[in-house]
Amino acid sequence: MKGKVTILGCGSAKPTKTTSPSSQLVELCDKMFMVDCGEGAQLMMQRLGVHTSRLYNIFISHLHADHCFGLAGLLCTLGMLKRTQPMHIYAHPDLEKLLQPILDYHCGDRLYEIVFHPINPRKHEVIFEDRTVSVETIPLKHGVPTCGFLFKETHRVKREDGTFERVTHKRYAYCADTMYSEKIVPLIEGVDTLYHEATFLESMSDRSREVKHSTARQAAVIAAKANAGQLIIGHYSARVEDHSLFASEAREVFPHVIAAEEKMVIEI
Ligand SMILES: [Zn+2]
Ligand SMILES: [Zn+2]
Repeated sequence: MKGKVTILGCGSAKPTKTTSPSSQLVELCDKMFMVDCGEGAQLMMQRLGVHTSRLYNIFISHLHADHCFGLAGLLCTLGMLKRTQPMHIYAHPDLEKLLQPILDYHCGDRLYEIVFHPINPRKHEVIFEDRTVSVETIPLKHGVPTCGFLFKETHRVKREDGTFERVTHKRYAYCADTMYSEKIVPLIEGVDTLYHEATFLESMSDRSREVKHSTARQAAVIAAKANAGQLIIGHYSARVEDHSLFASEAREVFPHVIAAEEKMVIEI
């Protein structure tokens, strides 16, 4: 089955003329998941003509503002649109504490339920599973508790003894934000597509270590070590305007690199 990722935002904390903060839509088995929801994510969906009613579940990697400040606006809009289907949000437990007062104040009359699923970013575990898709956490190394997400498209096959086995067809790993960490390699081994943050270039590696981010080269090393099919990079520093520099640095190590740009749709 075809899967795709739509880039709603691929910048880092400071928005620029061409980049908004992190957010993407992951479509697998006709379901649309949102991963991170930086400021402006819902505006980008509008511009792309993607109906917010299609949103199924939301996964938030960590609570830095550039990954979750778009949620309040989006969730209030869903209220105005008279959504009735519950929205499930998977995130660090503090998100509920932070968001609940805003939701109560601004869209307490919404018709749909928001269900917060607290996750432990330090643990590798399955946090979501239905008949065709499962999602696992990937513990990452960052300034605050952070995890990536491994999406698996699966289907169940009945064994001779009557029990079921899950067969995986496609895997997509989202790893942002993180500093270089080889610990994630076994968790994403052989993944079809890896999104790995590449905030900096090697020439800025001191700064990268200091603020616990990765360089484009480091993202490519992880992709190569994990034998990924293709690598998408993003979360670019506002200091580098020319994103092709990230791509060319990464390609020196790993050939199949896509430098994310807003509104890009990538087959996974
Ligand atoms: Zn970030
Ligand atoms: Zn961060």
